[in-house]
Amino acid sequence: TLSDRLTTVFSSLRGKGRLSEEDINTTAREIRVALLEADVALPVVREFIARIKERARGAEVSKALNPAQQVIKIVNEELIEVLGGETRTIRFAKTPPTVIMLAGLQGSGKTTLAGKLAKWLADQRNTPLLVAADLQRPNAVTQLQVLGERAKVPVYAPEPGNGVGDPVEVARSSVDYARRNNHNVVIIDTAGRLGVDEEMMRQAADIRDAVSPDEILFVVDAMIGQDAVNTAQAFLDGVGYDAVALTKLDGDARGGAALSIRHITGRPIMFASTGEKLEDFDLFHPDRMASRILDMGDVLTLIEQAQRTFEEAEVQKMASTLASDEDFTLDDFLEQMMMIRRLGPISNLLSMMPGMGQLRDQIDSIDDRDLDRIAAIIRSMTPAERANPKIINGSRRLRIANGSGTQVSEVSQLVTRFFGAQKMLRQLKQGGGFPGMPGLPG
Ligand code: GDP
Ligand code: MG
Repeated sequence: TLSDRLTTVFSSLRGKGRLSEEDINTTAREIRVALLEADVALPVVREFIARIKERARGAEVSKALNPAQQVIKIVNEELIEVLGGETRTIRFAKTPPTVIMLAGLQGSGKTTLAGKLAKWLADQRNTPLLVAADLQRPNAVTQLQVLGERAKVPVYAPEPGNGVGDPVEVARSSVDYARRNNHNVVIIDTAGRLGVDEEMMRQAADIRDAVSPDEILFVVDAMIGQDAVNTAQAFLDGVGYDAVALTKLDGDARGGAALSIRHITGRPIMFASTGEKLEDFDLFHPDRMASRILDMGDVLTLIEQAQRTFEEAEVQKMASTLASDEDFTLDDFLEQMMMIRRLGPISNLLSMMPGMGQLRDQIDSIDDRDLDRIAAIIRSMTPAERANPKIINGSRRLRIANGSGTQVSEVSQLVTRFFGAQKMLRQLKQGGGFPGMPGLPG
């Protein structure tokens, strides 16, 4: 598995501190093999690897993760990105009924998916109608009727008068029926063949032209592996579709087909089907698919934990400095500013402390270029000045400005800003404003 392979590569990476070109190349080779093993199509693998390499080269050294974890994180993020660029759900028509047509090979799971989708939509207060437009196989209609009963969704089946033997006529008349009977969604199950053939494509295209679907879903079995790409392309050319539904994800296929189809057709994957029961169905989640393709769920969880632990430790450190009896110094100010910048959203944790929101706002209002100047100013101060900024008089300000290549007015502004923050913190502490965060002293 990829997990094993990467673990081998990464054991030599561990502790190196940063990624060398050679590390990146070796790693890229392993990821390449792994993706191919997961049935991702070759051209897709090539492009994907190129992106990974580029990102790995540009990656900053992380404090939280070792190089091995860092690469896995990049691969995972890219996979999610590629898989999920435009995930979406059903787009309803302005005037009901919304017509959804299913297309795909025989055995891909269309009829099963029709039942699942009907139940899913009914659970969301829709009033779907299932339509049996597969008249190829003798028991296809019965199969849909059984599913409809279980999903408690009515099934429109061919009867004398509404197009026996003519799937196009069944589909067409079903839309009128739905309109008259207040069904807001119509789900049309169609016939498939074991392989792609012209007659099947023509019939699907005829149904399409008869009902002008709002959504055509291409239903594809995740187990068909490398063939998925050809089939997906054939249906795209022959019928066209708006989105993809992946079935049989409960099998042991790793799902590289998803990546290939998404990449080659540019169509979003909308649904994932994971079993024979009606409930085994959900919107497609790119993050789940990514960890499945990588086959590294555990590793990814570990990475998340490592990162979170690291970030929380930083935030706790910051919070205890702020809450301690020691006076807040310019060193603390600088450190906190850098940390808030680096941690980004997680520093929101701080905002849970009363009054902290204000300090955060003050720091957030400083833009990155200012931050560099502020850092330069503080670093040009003596330790005594940083600990006790009150001693920073006019001549000291001039010296600091010269030392940091800034203006005296900027030094003054910083000192004023700092006193503001210090005053605010003092008031908070006096007012007992620090009830303490969980796990923090006092
Ligand atoms: P269709 O020919 O495209 O209509 O495919 P069907 O809906 O008849 O499904 C073909 C077979 O695959 C049936 O035996 C289904 O029970 C099975 N099937 C469909 N979807 C899934 C799924 O997500 N997981 C599993 N394990 N089986 C599925
Ligand atoms: Mg069927």
